[in-house]
Amino acid sequence: MTDRRGGLGTHPGESNAAGVLLITDARLEEGGPAVDLTARAGRVAAVEPHRAGAGAGGPAEETLDAAGGLILPGLHDHHVHLRAAAAALDSVQAGPPTVRDVAGLARALSQPGSGWIRAVGYHDSVAGPLDRYGLDGLVRDRPVRVQHRSGALWMLNSAGLAALGAELPHHAGVERDRHGRPTGRLFRLDDWLATRVPPAPIDLAEVSARAARAGVTGFTEAGPEPTPAAVEWLDGQRRRGRLAQRLVVMAPTGGEADAPGLAWGPAKFLLDDDSLPGLEELTRRFRRVHRAGRAVAVHCVTRAQLFLTLAALDEAGPRPGDRIEHGSVIPGEAVPVIGRLRLAVVTNPGFVVQRGEEYLADVEAEDQPHLYRARTLVEAGITVSAGTDAPFGPADPWVAMQAAVQRRSAAGRAWGPSEAVGAPTALGWFLSDPLDLGRVRRVEVGGPADLFVLGCPVAEAVRGGSGAAVAATVIGGRIVHRER
Ligand SMILES: [Zn+2]
Repeated sequence: MTDRRGGLGTHPGESNAAGVLLITDARLEEGGPAVDLTARAGRVAAVEPHRAGAGAGGPAEETLDAAGGLILPGLHDHHVHLRAAAAALDSVQAGPPTVRDVAGLARALSQPGSGWIRAVGYHDSVAGPLDRYGLDGLVRDRPVRVQHRSGALWMLNSAGLAALGAELPHHAGVERDRHGRPTGRLFRLDDWLATRVPPAPIDLAEVSARAARAGVTGFTEAGPEPTPAAVEWLDGQRRRGRLAQRLVVMAPTGGEADAPGLAWGPAKFLLDDDSLPGLEELTRRFRRVHRAGRAVAVHCVTRAQLFLTLAALDEAGPRPGDRIEHGSVIPGEAVPVIGRLRLAVVTNPGFVVQRGEEYLADVEAEDQPHLYRARTLVEAGITVSAGTDAPFGPADPWVAMQAAVQRRSAAGRAWGPSEAVGAPTALGWFLSDPLDLGRVRRVEVGGPADLFVLGCPVAEAVRGGSGAAVAATVIGGRIVHRER
């Protein structure tokens, strides 16, 4: 579990595994004096004024010349779906901005080879609501499954349905036409599908390496609700060195779970407008989790989900660490309630750029000013942190920071500009302690040597909108990425 200095998910014995690392000519703040930082056994052991020639002949096993760059605590992505992110790297992109119309979708799905085609990121603006017949018109001879961008729906062609073999379950998630035939649209059946579709081997190495290049040293896995098998798989990826980052996993909402090598975060609640629980029921579920000593993290992407959550937390009584995930729609009257209940909001500014155009078209006019609010929350004293929501949002946290500052859609349209924040604020959303969002981590003696070196000022890196300025990334005193 977690120790109070902020070390996450350290395996027994791991702290001794990293040797001595010396980072020379670094700055802890912009315009500050140059320092040399020594990391030993995974922790920051010393920060001293920079000496020319430091490290030569010293005990350091590894040396990193920061060349005057800034050292910052490693970024923590507070909301990500690791397994899906890895799968998405091997998937066809089926939605904007890559695919915009049915011709583009046809091109994307015409893949050489045989076996399943897995496509992700579909949005109805491409070719309307898709079912098996629409997909059959594009691909007939091999099984196709297309995931809606919401993550809630898979759309299969007839070959895909046939390849599932056995009867589709009698589940409300299997949409059927008036003759009882499945339409190919499967809602919230990921777990069942995973047991039917031969799983492609999924590995987190590439997700981990890309994140390391962006300065990310930790993830909060946001579910769906973790099964023991899912947790074991994640931990296995870490143990086998496929995942270098620290890992917090949103906890199950019921029962205790065992998880060596990772820290449990709050319990994740997924709400769906079509099947919202009643106020009493949700209040009871929040109370149960709170009694078990755990905070809640509630998926709120609509006005209805937010108001229900706020009402239930008001009834149940909030617990420190309770948080709103996404906060996609936050009407003005909700802001003081969030403040009074002391909830944190974990926002996803990357959607401003990635989904900005569709939001401007799809979201009701009255809710437009409430979309992915940021500055209003900050000014109300509410704790804000950020996650990428990869693979549903862009995986690079610098894209999210840039979006938080610029508030422009991919097409360059201004998008709630009054909700823009400054670069240090946007960066700070990724520097907070994943188990105590109100606390901003610092590089300090005794703290974990989880950090990155930025080769340019923060404002410039955020304006650049990519991890290009990250010169090196260190996790547990080990260099996991270096530019030079
Ligand atoms: Zn998510």
